[in-house]
Amino acid sequence: MKLLVTGGAGYVGSVCAARLVESGHEVVVLDDLSTGHADAAPDGVRLVEAGIDDAIGDLLAEGFDGVLHFAAKSLVGESMLDPAKYWQGNVVTSLRLLDAMREHGTPRLVFSSTAATYGEPEQVPIAETAPTRPTNTYGATKLAIDHAITSYAAAHGLAAVSLRYFNVAGAYGRFGERHGVETHLIPIVLQVASGRRERVQVYGDDWPTDDGTCVRDYIHVVDLADAHLRALEHAAAGEHRIYNLGNGLGFSVKQVIDACREVTGHPIPADVAPRRAGDPAVLVASSEKARTELGWKPERVDLAGIVRDAWDFTRSQQGA
Ligand code: UDP
Repeated sequence: MKLLVTGGAGYVGSVCAARLVESGHEVVVLDDLSTGHADAAPDGVRLVEAGIDDAIGDLLAEGFDGVLHFAAKSLVGESMLDPAKYWQGNVVTSLRLLDAMREHGTPRLVFSSTAATYGEPEQVPIAETAPTRPTNTYGATKLAIDHAITSYAAAHGLAAVSLRYFNVAGAYGRFGERHGVETHLIPIVLQVASGRRERVQVYGDDWPTDDGTCVRDYIHVVDLADAHLRALEHAAAGEHRIYNLGNGLGFSVKQVIDACREVTGHPIPADVAPRRAGDPAVLVASSEKARTELGWKPERVDLAGIVRDAWDFTRSQQGA
């Protein structure tokens, strides 16, 4: 297929673009490089350095079989302080994309949604039938886009799949997490191990969990990318399907730090700090629907293995 990958110079987008190229697809990456990196676009893709607003019409006029839409603002804290950036950058831009797809008859869309659409869960593991009550602006904008996709699919025959990611981690060779502002646990802990940060703060150790720290579902970025390939194959005209993607296994903040100590051999000093606003105690996905309907199964479920891939990537960056 000829595929457009928006945000394909970012973390998840670049891994996905690389896997698509390896599977024989023709890939064009559209990225404004506001948070992505030009050298993260895989070999064999055409990189168009532009925003969706400026470039989407002309690009889709070329004729594409589908779009994988990763380009987004994705910092939860920032979304609370500067909501306009998120409503404009995520919702308005995605509407532009949907309209351009309709205009040019682009048949398929795979959208990068998030577990943040659910908010504080009533039950774990979280299934797609759980209520969607996002507790931050980032999650609210992704949910709004999901709603828009549902109505475009119903009205205009778009074949659409939204994938709701839990905690994405790990790396794929030279493709990994390189954020200007880092807020995620594993990269922060690895910054300590690589000497770029003194200590890690554990946001609360009095949560109602086995060891008192928050539990999250860490999914390897390659497993996640592979779910996108399956979603493309299973997308059906006029339908919007939604799937949660996680390991189904929860790991606590303490377990993550211990795994990083084991993999890196660094003592990784950690301090207990106050809870972070908006953090639920436990977020674990039920990915049963993706397993059953997409035939997808996460293969890289071992936490130490996920951390090892992220660590190899961190060290390669330091050497760069
Ligand atoms: N966390 C932490 N210290 C940090 C960063 C994160 O204790 O420096 C915790 C955070 O409170 C959450 C978990 O690690 O319970 C995962 O956070 P992350 O930001 O990686 O992902 P989120 O689950 O918020 O999407």
